[in-house]
Amino acid sequence: MLLDSVYQTAAMPAERRFSANCDKIVTMSEKVHITGLKRAELEELAASFGEPKYRATQVFKAVHGRRLTSFDEITDLPKKFRAKLQETAEISSLTVESRYVSVDGTRRYLMKTADGYPVETVYIPSESRDTICFSSQSGCPLKCDFCLTAKLGLLRNLTPGEIVEQVIIVLNDVYGVGAETPHGTNLVGMGAGEPFLNFENLITALEIMSDEDGLFIVPNRVTVSTAGIVPKIYEFAQLENRPHLAISLSSAKDELRDTLMPINKRWDLGELMSAAKEFEGSLRRGERFTFEYVMLGGVNDADNDANDLADLLERFQLKRVKINLIPHNGAEQLDYNTSTPERVDRFKWVLESRGVSAYVRQPRGRDIYAACGQLAAKTVGSRQ
Ligand code: SAH
Repeated sequence: MLLDSVYQTAAMPAERRFSANCDKIVTMSEKVHITGLKRAELEELAASFGEPKYRATQVFKAVHGRRLTSFDEITDLPKKFRAKLQETAEISSLTVESRYVSVDGTRRYLMKTADGYPVETVYIPSESRDTICFSSQSGCPLKCDFCLTAKLGLLRNLTPGEIVEQVIIVLNDVYGVGAETPHGTNLVGMGAGEPFLNFENLITALEIMSDEDGLFIVPNRVTVSTAGIVPKIYEFAQLENRPHLAISLSSAKDELRDTLMPINKRWDLGELMSAAKEFEGSLRRGERFTFEYVMLGGVNDADNDANDLADLLERFQLKRVKINLIPHNGAEQLDYNTSTPERVDRFKWVLESRGVSAYVRQPRGRDIYAACGQLAAKTVGSRQ
């Protein structure tokens, strides 16, 4: 089946690896991408140059804690070590091609990998906290019918370094190099791509970003969204220090979900909900998980659809869940209408009357193609 092969291709690490002292991820220039190295790997790298462990800590703190972007700036390192690093490694591998700022303050960064693939990252400010939405893949192999990113297809998986660097670039742009990451910054893996089809790199990146000597964005501040890669939901549930989970549902009926999200033909609602039930068992005290539901006018937004959703949750006895209703963000190439605000409210009301918590996600950055499902390397209007 086609989706099987898509799954396998996407699961294969697309980045080239080379092994010297350790298995380091290299960029097109064959240099080690420092941003993607775990502490232990950085220590191995330092050791390969005859440098003690604490030098690795200095580099880690400089790159992730102070977010410096060139070795020259790490002046507390011996010159010789700096020169060695310069020769063999690099801190930056992504380049920012354009940066768009929405009327609502949302920023979209259109970046390119060293080998020319588009990467998009979104910064969403709010009164209580800021959120950074990162991409896990360039493009996406899933063919969700309502999503613009799907039109790109999968270009390639992003390396751990490329995932981490997206966040560093945004923080440096918003707060300046060296400024402390504001406590409470949230991360969401809801940009381009299917995070669970790039699982290992995603987990490595999150581990690096959670380090208190670095960005210090702890798993409790991170949410990863999957379209329903069932085996990985089971694996995710087992992780000791895991982030929060969101599952994109968008229909409680197999027939409709098959057409909206073809991944449903690989793992249907029965399999998905069984995995969700298992995941519910792994929740910590007070934690809930989310089902995302894209609201498509006249397609999945009737009272019946809300009742079907409540029935489905009941059937699997899912209790510690909340529903995030996402009004569809349109684009020329997408054949859907967004639900009217009245419909969204009514849908929410039906869910709530059935005892299901539901929230409406306010669209952010629609005017600059930064909203959910709009990331498709689009260049629009004037750049800032
Ligand atoms: N591949 C992952 C993560 C990326 S999409 C996933 O599917 O969960 C993040 C969310 O945006 C998903 O819930 C997805 O269903 C939703 N989405 C996709 N296209 C959209 C659109 N055009 N309008 C609103 N939401 C959309």
